[in-house]
Amino acid sequence: MIYYNLKDHQEKIDFKNATIKGQGKEKGLFFPENIPQFNEEFIQNLPQCSNEEIAYQCMKDFVGDEISSEILKEIVAETVSFKIPLVKINEQISVLELFHGPTLAFKDIGARFMSRCLSYFLKDQQKKVTVLVATSGDTGGAVAHGFYKIPQINVVILYPKNRVSPVQEKQLTALGENISAIEVNGSFDDCQNLVKQAFSDQEINSQLFLTSANSINIARWLPQQIYYLIALKQWIQQHKEHPVICVPSGNFGNICAGLLAHFRGMPADHFIAACNDNHVIPDYLKTQKFEPHQAVPTLSNAMDVGNPSNFVRILELFGNQFDSLKIQYLPTPSMIRKP
Ligand SMILES: *Cc1c(COP(=O)(O)O)cnc(C)c1O
Repeated sequence: MIYYNLKDHQEKIDFKNATIKGQGKEKGLFFPENIPQFNEEFIQNLPQCSNEEIAYQCMKDFVGDEISSEILKEIVAETVSFKIPLVKINEQISVLELFHGPTLAFKDIGARFMSRCLSYFLKDQQKKVTVLVATSGDTGGAVAHGFYKIPQINVVILYPKNRVSPVQEKQLTALGENISAIEVNGSFDDCQNLVKQAFSDQEINSQLFLTSANSINIARWLPQQIYYLIALKQWIQQHKEHPVICVPSGNFGNICAGLLAHFRGMPADHFIAACNDNHVIPDYLKTQKFEPHQAVPTLSNAMDVGNPSNFVRILELFGNQFDSLKIQYLPTPSMIRKP
């Protein structure tokens, strides 16, 4: 599969190099050149599919022949090697439990897939790569665990002092080996700025090969499609209607992966992005103006993002057509409950 840079469509890159580089020129995000459709039979037979098979079907077209199918099957099996149950709240509402992975964050799925792909691609090269990541709490732990003891990769995590929970701090700092965590006397935005500065620093980049492991990286973004299909598999065993899918959103990588799966043929009636006090996208849906701002700290710190980086991918999916993206910015009860 070929990917292009959303900031400069002339820059094209394969899966391997997009995974290694993370982002393109001018910090542009990579986007797949075409949206591969799911086989209809696959969707019909979802209840009979294992999670490993679903994961393989989700990822194979995006990887192409850059990883052999045997190895890709091993990678996706390790990616989804914990339970992902859809738990019923009542007759109409269920919740997908994505906290059964090693660091209790849904980011475990993306981090496990990305780390294994990156390690595979580095095997035939002399390169050592440093994964540099800023975290407000969840990302750092998932990335640290996903890359722990993986050869040729060092991980450096910047986290804001006193702003991550005690459990999260232990997840970041207690592993050792190839994982280093640095406590920054400042906010998450300060950590993020240090990371951005490092990526554009020529002296650092002449000595270290840096890459990022947040949802900007396609190898962390794309595998998030997998659990939407794992959810659907369980949903259609109990319901006749297509689901309305609500996703707590910060950088909008997660919901964007769900939308991508939908564009590939996964049935869903509607998507709802749930935001906290950081409501740049709800505002955009009301005013058609995209106005990033400084993030406001809240209790749901993983959603405290003032400039959601994956929104450009959502726009691209909808052909940059505001009207098709904006059906309704708030769900009405009739959209949740079908007669
Ligand atoms: C990462 C995270 C989010 C935000 O996900 P995005 O893909 O950035 O929209 C929301 N909730 C929790 C608990 C998270 O860990």
